[in-house]
Amino acid sequence: MNKSLTVLIFSLYCMVCHIAVAYEKNESPTLTKVNEYNLRADIITFVQLSSSAPNKAYVLLSTFDLDATAYNYAEQYLVLLAKAKIKQYQQQHQEVISLIKKTIALRKYIVEKQLNTPLFSNAHLVLATSYAAIKDFDQAYQAKKDFVDEYNDYSDDNRENTVKELTKKYEIAHKIEANELLDNQNKLKELRLEEVHKQQQDQQQQFILITLTIILFVLLFLRQLKIRKKLLFLTKTDSLTGILNRAALFNQGQKLVKISSQKELQLSLSLFDIDHFKSINDEFGHHVGDLVLEKISHLVSETMRARDVFSRLGGEEFVIILPNTDIDKAKAIAVRVMEKIADHDFGECGVNRPITLSIGVANLNETKAVFDDLLHAADLAMYQAKAQGRNQMVSYANIAEHQERRQR
Ligand code: GH3
Ligand code: MG
Ligand code: MG
Repeated sequence: MNKSLTVLIFSLYCMVCHIAVAYEKNESPTLTKVNEYNLRADIITFVQLSSSAPNKAYVLLSTFDLDATAYNYAEQYLVLLAKAKIKQYQQQHQEVISLIKKTIALRKYIVEKQLNTPLFSNAHLVLATSYAAIKDFDQAYQAKKDFVDEYNDYSDDNRENTVKELTKKYEIAHKIEANELLDNQNKLKELRLEEVHKQQQDQQQQFILITLTIILFVLLFLRQLKIRKKLLFLTKTDSLTGILNRAALFNQGQKLVKISSQKELQLSLSLFDIDHFKSINDEFGHHVGDLVLEKISHLVSETMRARDVFSRLGGEEFVIILPNTDIDKAKAIAVRVMEKIADHDFGECGVNRPITLSIGVANLNETKAVFDDLLHAADLAMYQAKAQGRNQMVSYANIAEHQERRQR
C-alpha cells in the first residue's frame, strides 16, 4: 500500500516537473495548429528581397525590428529568416546560425502546410550554407537533409493538392455531363411525347376521314337505291295517270294467272274503254282529255280493293285484275265502276256532260289459262258492250250466249 502510494506521488511529481520544464522552454503542452497564418505583404516582399537582392533588403532591415506583439509567429519566422539571409550575404555566419535557430524554434507554432511552402522552407538551406562556410560539415549535412525532407513534404502536399483539384474538376465535369445527359433524356422524353401526341392526332384524322368516307359511300349507295327505285317505279308506272302501265299489267297479270291456276283460285278481269273519248278531245281540247283520263283513273282507284291490280292498257282503255273474285263479284264491281263514272260531274275538268264507260268482264274459268286469252276475252266482251249501245257491262259468258242467240 505504502509502496503504491509512493509510486503515485512520484508519477505526479514527474508530470509537474515535465509541465514546469515545458513552461520554462516556452512550450505550450496543449498547442494545436489548425490554420495558416495570414502574412503582411511588406514582410513577404522583404523576405523575397533578402534572397534576390540582400543589399537592398539590408536597407529595410531597421523597419522590421522584431516585436512579438506586432507580428504573428509566421511573420516573426519570415523576418528572422530574411535577417539571416542578409547576415549570410554579409558573411556573418555565426549570426546566421543563431538567427536560423531562433527561426526554427518558431516552427512549432506554424502549421506544417505553411512551413512546407517555398517562402518558409529554405531556412534549413540557409543554415546548411552557413555551417558549410564555417566548415562544420556534419551540421551542414544535417541542415541540408532537413531542407530536402521539407522539400519532399512540400512536393507531397502539392501532389496531394493537385490530385484533389483534379478530382474536384473531374467530379464537376462528371456532374455537368450527368446534367447534360439528364437534359438530353428530358428532351428525348418531350420529343417522344410530342411524337405520341402527333400519332394520336394522325389516328384521329384518319378515323374522321375513314368515317366521312364511309358516310359518303352509304349516302351515295342510298341515293343510288332511291334512283333505282324511282326508275323501277317509272318503268312500271303510267306517266299521266300514275297507275300501272301496260308492261306492268302484263307482268302482274301473268303472275296472277299462274298462281290462280296452280292454286285453283278464282281470277276475274275487267277491261273498260271510255265512250266517244275522241269527241271530248275534239270538243274540249286534248288537255281536257288528259284531265278526264286522270280523273277517271282516280275515281276507279277509289273503288279498288288492296289486292286488285288497276292499270292503263293504252289510250282511253283500262284493265282491272281482280284476284280471288268470281265472275258475279267481278260483274258487280264493273257495274259499280260504270255507274260511278256515269254519275260523276266532270265540270271540274271542263266537261259539261256525262262521260260513260263500256266494260267487258272475263273469268279465268271461262277462258284458257293464259293471261292474253283472259284479256282477249274481256276485250271481246267490251266490244260487245260498245256494239250494244255503250255505257254498259258485258261479261264473256254473255258473249257466248249472245253468239249462240245470233247463230240460232
Ligand atoms: P268509242 O266510243 O268507240 O270508243 O269511241 P272513241 O272516240 O272513244 O274511240 P276512238 O278509238 O275513236 O278514239 C280514241 C281517242 O282517244 C283517240 C285518241 O286521240 C284519244 N286518246 C288516246 N290516248 C289519249 C291521251 O293520252 N290523251 C288524250 N287527251 N287523248 C287520248
Ligand atoms: Mg278505244
Ligand atoms: Mg273509246
